[in-house]
Amino acid sequence: MEIAQSVNLQAYNTFGVPATAAFFASIESKENLEKALQYAAGESLPTLVLGGGSNVLFIRDYAGLVLHINNRGIKWLEGLAEDSQRVRVAAGENWHEFVSACLAKELYGLENLALIPGTVGAAPIQNIGAYGVELADFFVELSCYDREQNQWLSLTREQCEFAYRDSLFKRSGGRYLVFDITLELDKDWKPNLSYQALAGVIGEVDPSAQQVFDTVCSLRREKLPDPNDLGNAGSFFKNPIVSDEKYAALQKQLPGLPNYAIEEEGLTKIPAAWLLDQLGWKGRRRGRAQVHKHHALILVNPGYALGEDILLLAQEMSSSVLENFGIALEPEVQIL
Ligand SMILES: Cc1cc2nc3c(=O)[nH]c(=O)nc-3n(C[C@H](O)[C@H](O)[C@H](O)COP(=O)(O)OP(=O)(O)OC[C@H]3O[C@@H](n4cnc5c(N)ncnc54)[C@H](O)[C@@H]3O)c2cc1C
Repeated sequence: MEIAQSVNLQAYNTFGVPATAAFFASIESKENLEKALQYAAGESLPTLVLGGGSNVLFIRDYAGLVLHINNRGIKWLEGLAEDSQRVRVAAGENWHEFVSACLAKELYGLENLALIPGTVGAAPIQNIGAYGVELADFFVELSCYDREQNQWLSLTREQCEFAYRDSLFKRSGGRYLVFDITLELDKDWKPNLSYQALAGVIGEVDPSAQQVFDTVCSLRREKLPDPNDLGNAGSFFKNPIVSDEKYAALQKQLPGLPNYAIEEEGLTKIPAAWLLDQLGWKGRRRGRAQVHKHHALILVNPGYALGEDILLLAQEMSSSVLENFGIALEPEVQIL
């Protein structure tokens, strides 16, 4: 395993902002990972795990060792029940290609999560979700390296503490390095059309899995900028979750304020994009950073923005939401 020095990370983050990693290693096996960690410990370097770079914002150079996760492989296992099958997939696999591979195998459940950029190993970090489905719905376990105890671990769904765009991993400051994940998928097709906008576009009473997959892909292509054309990391902020009382008070201030029902009693989720829209953020530019013309939740790099420019714009946006509506927006993107 080679450890490169002074590597430009611009091609390794979908915002396309420049940043230099002092050291950089491509991780293809458990042995690679252990060796890289030993090297970092020997040189007293901090380490940072990087997948596809589609949920990070570099605001400065990284003085440590970047571990770029590149292990590959999909293992089709037996299911616990007759109507399901387990699959173990390496962290370095591309998420969308994996979703396509499951569909080709007639294993169902992940269609609504098609076209989410990034790697499989990053999917549990924020419990990726879209169109009414999230990773936790199909998750069984993962294997990871625990940097605190210096050992390999297997963690179950409960141990991963999944929540809305959140998990144990997001709160543990990079302690766990995900190496592979195991999901249990259905052999029988049942569409999940709980998300109104998806159900509305599909319109079919009984769509096929391929139809749902294709519709999700075309909706996403229509709505979201392709990072290859315009640097971005998808939604910059999480949708805030507020108490029912707070929601009722906000509704008086903001007639027509939408909400999404969530499982936790007494709480309601509000679309952050709607709040930002009320304050006229769509399309606004600050220096070299910009809010997307059609989507107030997506910050973009039109060309030469630095991570700092994007962060300053994001801070201005969240301050305006706090001042006007008393809601503190939380970034979904990891700021590094
Ligand atoms: C256009 C666009 C649309 C998007 N749409 C969605 C969406 O609908 N739903 C959604 O949930 N997300 C969405 N995202 C965000 C992003 O795609 C996901 O968060 C994705 O899982 C990030 O994967 P990655 O490999 O790029 O992670 P990175 O950006 O490389 O890393 C993200 C975080 O995970 C950590 N990490 C990465 N790999 C590992 C590993 N193997 N072990 C431990 N830690 C690791 C990193 O250290 C970092 O903290 C979107 C992004 C873009 C650009």
